[in-house]
Parts: sequence; structure tokens; C-alpha cells
Amino acid sequence: MVTELEIGDVSVDVVFKDIKNVHLSVYPPTGRVRISAPCRMSLENIRLFAISKLGWIKKHQSKLLSQERESPREYLERESHYLWGQRYLLRLADRSDAPAVVVEHRHIVLHVGAEAPVQKRQAVLDDLYRRELKQAARPIIAKWESQLSVAVDRIFVQRMKTKWGSSNPRLRTIRLNLELAKKPVESLDYVVLHEMAHFLVPDHSLRFVGVMDENMPNWRLIRKTLNDAPLSYGE
Ligand SMILES: [Zn+2]
Repeated sequence: MVTELEIGDVSVDVVFKDIKNVHLSVYPPTGRVRISAPCRMSLENIRLFAISKLGWIKKHQSKLLSQERESPREYLERESHYLWGQRYLLRLADRSDAPAVVVEHRHIVLHVGAEAPVQKRQAVLDDLYRRELKQAARPIIAKWESQLSVAVDRIFVQRMKTKWGSSNPRLRTIRLNLELAKKPVESLDYVVLHEMAHFLVPDHSLRFVGVMDENMPNWRLIRKTLNDAPLSYGE
């Protein structure tokens, strides 16, 4: 059973085990934080422990994220990019009246002109991901709205370094990581349900887990697949 603690902008998975000493790990590739704690240790003491290690956690997270940045995409012809779990090859085409980016069969075609800098190519591809994600999220949100009897007022799609999503139940908003557009759509389904379940239960208590179990019996498997995959690169 995993409990989640929020320490500022860092979320920490806490697992209670039959052990003597508390143990902290930061996992590649996303810098996910996990604390294994003795069963008798209180959540408040675990929180204090995590706060005292926050500097260490952040240092290791930024190290992991900068390692990831060392193999950046170049947005070259025939480079692999993913959309909804499918691999596509990039094709660079001349600028035209067509939309700047088109998905056709096994290719994602960027109509940006050969001289376009990497940042421009990335921005055009990110536009595709943002558009696809918003479009796919709409029916999924509608489904969970009627299932959970809650309402979402706004969704935001953005780059997030260590999380797949977040929510603000008071403002009824949801934030989704742009990278979700690269994953199989069931991942988006799971993240949306998780964030909307927070409209009913703010923490990750047993009651929250109950809502997840009831609505998506295989959510643990989807979460595992999502967290084991690299955040950006999937080759
Ligand atoms: Zn959560």
C-alpha cells in the first residue's frame, strides 16, 4: 500500500515495510521519490524526514533530468517520435498551405521548411501533442464526470518534470503532462481518473484507492507501465 506525501512541489511515495530504518530513493528516469519506512513510523515523522532531505532529493532529481537532456531530440528526417504509443518517423517537408504538422500513416510530417531551427520544429510537434491531448481528454473527462458525479471547469496541458498530472479540486482544474500524448491512451484515461478522483478525496487514503479500484480495476498495472517508461524517450 503506497501513501503519497506532497512536500512543496515534490511528491513522495511512502511504503511501509517491516524494516528498522527509513530509506529514501530517487528513481530514474523521472526522479520519482520513494521512502520505505518502518511500520511504526508516523506519517508526520516521515514528512519531517523528507523535508530534511529535500535538498538531496532536488539535487538528484535535477541530475537525472539533466542526464535525460544530454540525449536531446534533433527533429531530423526519420527520427522516431511517438503519438499515443505508436512510433512514427519524422519527415521534414517544405512549408505549404497545409497545417504545419500532419500525421499520415507511419509518418509525422513537419511543414516547417528545411532551414527551421530545432526549437521551431519542436514547437510545431508540441503543438500537435497539445492539440491531440486536449482532444482526447475531452471525452475521457466527460466519461468520468458522469461516472464520479464531479465537474471539471478547465484543463491545462503543459510540460511537467516529475508528474503526469495534477489537479485543483477547489478550482475544478486539471493539469496534464504534455508527454501523455506519446503514451498509450489508457495512460491518459488513468491519469485523468486519478486527478478527478481527487475532487472526491483530496489525499491518497484508502478511500481514494477505493474510488480507483471501483472505476478502473487495473489502474496499478497502467501506473506501473507509465512510471517504468522513460518520460521523454521510448525507443
Ligand atoms: Zn494524486
